[in-house]
Amino acid sequence: MRWTQTFIPTMKEVPADAEVPSHQLMLRTGMIRQLMAGAYTFMPLGYRVVRKVSEIVREEMDRAGAIELFMPAIQPMELFERTGRREAFGNVLFNFETKRGDRNLHFALGPTHEEVITDLVSREIKTYKQLPITMYQIQTKFRNEERPRFGVLRTSEFLMKDAYSFAASLEQLNVQYDAMYNAYCRIFERCGLEYIPVEAESGPIGGDASHEFMAPADNGEDFVVRCKGCGYAANQERADTGRTSSVPAKVDGAADPVKVDTPDAGTIEDVSKMQKADPATFIKTLVYIADEKPVAVLVRGDHDVNEGKVRRAFGATDLELADEATIEKVTGAPVGFAGPVGIGCDLIADHDVAGIAAAITGANAKDTHLTGVVPGTHFELSETFDLRNATAGDPCPKCDATLEIVHGIEVGHVFKLGTKYSESLDANYLDSSEKKHPIIMGCYGIGVSRVVASIVETCHDDGGIIWPMHVAPYTVELIPLNVKDDDVMTAVNKIYDDLTAAGIDVLMDDRDQRPGFKFKDADLIGLPVRVVIGGKGLKEGNAEIKLRTDDKATMVPIGDTISHVQ
Ligand code: ATP
Ligand code: MG
Ligand code: MG
Ligand code: MG
Repeated sequence: MRWTQTFIPTMKEVPADAEVPSHQLMLRTGMIRQLMAGAYTFMPLGYRVVRKVSEIVREEMDRAGAIELFMPAIQPMELFERTGRREAFGNVLFNFETKRGDRNLHFALGPTHEEVITDLVSREIKTYKQLPITMYQIQTKFRNEERPRFGVLRTSEFLMKDAYSFAASLEQLNVQYDAMYNAYCRIFERCGLEYIPVEAESGPIGGDASHEFMAPADNGEDFVVRCKGCGYAANQERADTGRTSSVPAKVDGAADPVKVDTPDAGTIEDVSKMQKADPATFIKTLVYIADEKPVAVLVRGDHDVNEGKVRRAFGATDLELADEATIEKVTGAPVGFAGPVGIGCDLIADHDVAGIAAAITGANAKDTHLTGVVPGTHFELSETFDLRNATAGDPCPKCDATLEIVHGIEVGHVFKLGTKYSESLDANYLDSSEKKHPIIMGCYGIGVSRVVASIVETCHDDGGIIWPMHVAPYTVELIPLNVKDDDVMTAVNKIYDDLTAAGIDVLMDDRDQRPGFKFKDADLIGLPVRVVIGGKGLKEGNAEIKLRTDDKATMVPIGDTISHVQ
């Protein structure tokens, strides 16, 4: 490609409203342009990277045995009602009503596709002989994010690879899950993106049922708790719930826990008294202690932060907040789940501390032998382990080494769903004795457009982007020092043709600009190899070759250019 024949509007200035390096660099290199908050055009240079990442994802999905399909982005609202996600998604779900003839129709724009694919499977899959199967697509997703930010890291419209697995047994699900997990590792490696797989809150299946893939980055919105000793890594939610650790650690400088003994425990008054004990504190945790062991952590306070956390403890993602039925299924006990604020007290008021404890600690309620709140139960009201303020250095829950906390960008998520969707949408299979069972599902997402931004966020220097080889928009930037010099252009055109014929992506900067200007842009857009032709070098029959990662260039006979670039 010749620069003058494509569209790469680079800019020198750092855009004022772009806070993080990836957003700044993607604007400066002309990779993206904003239409409105949360919606961006991928310009020609940016779109080439999107395509390269998509192709890597596709190859690895195919290699892992997943089958590609393509589903509608427009979806009937009724499906979200049947799974309870209309309410759970709330405002995040873009939806609209429209008329067709006399009929009123209500549609949603897909934030993800569990509903659509489960509906499809419910119609098409009937017997265990058709299982296991994993299907995927690469498609635009729509989420009305509260705060779209950081360029294409968080947008209201983004490209996702989403895969869904369907199985007739937990063993089959585990094989499918491992295949996706391993494919994710290969994908991020091939993209040149550093990643940490972290334990995330798992669904009703429990155990190691959910992992997020985090790209470590200072500006990441997630927090990863990582052990320097055994390498155990968890996201803040999981480390917070106390499933693997004991009492949440205290925030530095917080007041000592308020201890309250409840003679007639479990009434709403007792809890509200405790809440009144320290109403000024932003985030609170009620630690439920039985047999001197903390067995439940109930959070109250800020709605967005804490309701999400509590619900996630029941195995839901932040988009798919657990409904009562899910919680009851996990806990094996009835649960009252009331208003968003003060959720902890609502739960306690319903005398289901045992169920809550079991859910939060990952145990089965029936095994805990706890029935409601025992008189004399001892509560502690303490600060939550608020990782936004936490200092590194607490005890690893698995070994005794020190924990560190790193920021991360969630680039992928794999999740054992169980039968939530198959039950609500009637996706069943018949076993060999014609007995009906709900199909066991998993879901697996990668934010393709977010991966592109994460690569830029983690691979750059002061001069610009440093593209990893396999995702670079082009491999070589070919720079004629003087486009008006016929000798230079003859040599450059020959190299361009030879490289192109060898299957190498070349961008020739054929603009009539000063060398310094072009070198700055070459560093900015960051292609892996720079080849300069002209001046004294050309007279001596040489090309000047420099890798983006190197400081110095080397002179190479022009005829050897291809072998040096490959
Ligand atoms: P986040 O915690 O960042 O909001 P999520 O957990 O809601 O992400 P998932 O439902 O797990 O996201 O979706 C799968 C993947 O899609 C995520 O791992 C992420 O890479 C990507 N993704 C999610 N939301 C966005 C968004 N608003 N913009 C770009 N990519 C996104
Ligand atoms: Mg989200
Ligand atoms: Mg998330
Ligand atoms: Mg997620």
